[in-house]
Amino acid sequence: MLKQQESYDALYETFRWDVPERFNIGVAVCDRWASREPDRIALYHYDPGSAPQTLTYQELAARSNALANALRACGVARGDRVALLLPQCFETVIAHVAIYKLGAIAVPLALLFGVEALEYRLETAGVKALVTNEAGHEKVRGLRARLPSLQCVISVDGATGGALGFDELVARHASIFEAEDTASDDPAMMIFTSGTTGPPKGALHGHRVLLGHLPGVQMAHEFLPQPDDRLWTPADWAWAGGLLNVLLPGLYFGVPVVSGRFERFDPEMALALMEKMAVRNAFIPPTALRMLKAVRGIRSRYKLQLRTVGSGGEALGRETYDWAKAELGLTINEFYGQTECNLVLSSCAELGVSRGGAIGKPVPGHQVAVIDGEGRPVGVGEAGQIAVRRPDPVMFLEYWQNPEATAKKFIGDWMVTGDQGGLDPDGYIHFFGRDDDVITSAGYRIGPGEIEDCLTGHPDVALAAVVGKPDPLRTEIVKAYVVLKPGVERHEELAGDISLWVRERLSAHEYPREVEFVDSIPLTTTGKVIRRIFRDRARAEAS
Ligand code: ATP
Ligand code: MG
Repeated sequence: MLKQQESYDALYETFRWDVPERFNIGVAVCDRWASREPDRIALYHYDPGSAPQTLTYQELAARSNALANALRACGVARGDRVALLLPQCFETVIAHVAIYKLGAIAVPLALLFGVEALEYRLETAGVKALVTNEAGHEKVRGLRARLPSLQCVISVDGATGGALGFDELVARHASIFEAEDTASDDPAMMIFTSGTTGPPKGALHGHRVLLGHLPGVQMAHEFLPQPDDRLWTPADWAWAGGLLNVLLPGLYFGVPVVSGRFERFDPEMALALMEKMAVRNAFIPPTALRMLKAVRGIRSRYKLQLRTVGSGGEALGRETYDWAKAELGLTINEFYGQTECNLVLSSCAELGVSRGGAIGKPVPGHQVAVIDGEGRPVGVGEAGQIAVRRPDPVMFLEYWQNPEATAKKFIGDWMVTGDQGGLDPDGYIHFFGRDDDVITSAGYRIGPGEIEDCLTGHPDVALAAVVGKPDPLRTEIVKAYVVLKPGVERHEELAGDISLWVRERLSAHEYPREVEFVDSIPLTTTGKVIRRIFRDRARAEAS
């Protein structure tokens, strides 16, 4: 845990990990509180039309115990994989806690996944039981014949052909369960990467991963827990960002977590939820923030009580950082991590660690550097790979059944992220771009994020994706695919104007020589721009 200190440097220097040899996430986020303060509220569920529902730690403990007994009766044992395909709701949390207490491995899956994506993950992980709802059951019903290891499906919408009913199971089993005595290195969860760059890999994490996240969460949310803190994210809890940056740390710290249901991010709905639920701490990914940015008069129309807003998962960019300061009166704390090793860099305005356009600084407890291909840290101002040094409690154990991919992730003791970045003279790390996204044009290496950020500052632009388009003269040229704001008409001159907008603000080598208007930009289930699709399109155009 972070102790409040005067300066970032003092905090970083004095921090020491306290990771016990035996540790169980289920016990830490639930039983610890249930025995001390049984009536303390663990979760609020937001319902736009009525009063919020609550779940206390005691209820969470009793129900997760009953579900753990039920899963055991279904044949789930220590080390088995149990998948969750559910929206933000109490049952999702109950199931997570039950799985950890059983010593089984939770495999969270995003609701937006189609049948193929589900089959790939259920099969790769050899999932034995699935906890889902009727919509999820509908998707997997046809797959069951092809998934021999999947022995049991539990639906929160009740028993239907082939699925057991969640509530019936919980009612039928004893609410006492002795949690397995797990080591902090024993596997607890398997989270698939977003699949932004290729087929998703299952990153396997130990129980210690929760402890590894705490300093980063505290830095991004300015010494959480503070009185009245209350956490919320629109991000799916199936994503490391939702599960490990919000849900589990909230429960661990005794900070109530608000759950709400979003099929897709809707800015007005997000504002209404934050107002009604008195959300104090929000994690809102950059794309969602950019959508909020398009809403007029937020401060006059909504009474928000936000104390902290963290953002990460993509580059936030200066435009959005400045907008939040001016329009919301808030400094957004950007942070950085990846499924394999999350939340290792962060900002913290209260500590004076905050700079628009930069990610932040290493979170206490993590050694982060920018290195070259041989694993040597590069100098200030030079580009290299962002890397994290092992051992680190937040680092994954391995890619599931893929030792080659695991080995390739390391240069000596440095875990390479596949992201390019640089260090500035004040110790901030700047994100440059993913290895695959970097554009090579006339000898320059250009990261798309800064250009996209600049584009969304143009009054007519809603969203943009920037890629390299092959070019005989310059190797690649910068091409922007742009979604205009509603009601704005597409025309040649506007394309030229948008191109000029970037040229005037960034530089003469970094502006998009081609601007093409598109209706939408494909996003991953975690709300990230999938540039790969546009890259393929630009390549096809060029050939
Ligand atoms: P895949 O590995 O399957 O291609 P993915 O890398 O998008 O998918 P995640 O692990 O969810 O899957 O995302 C981590 C990545 O997100 C980081 O490696 C980095 O590229 C990007 N990222 C995270 N935080 C930031 C940030 N603050 N600024 C810029 N990029 C970020
Ligand atoms: Mg990745």
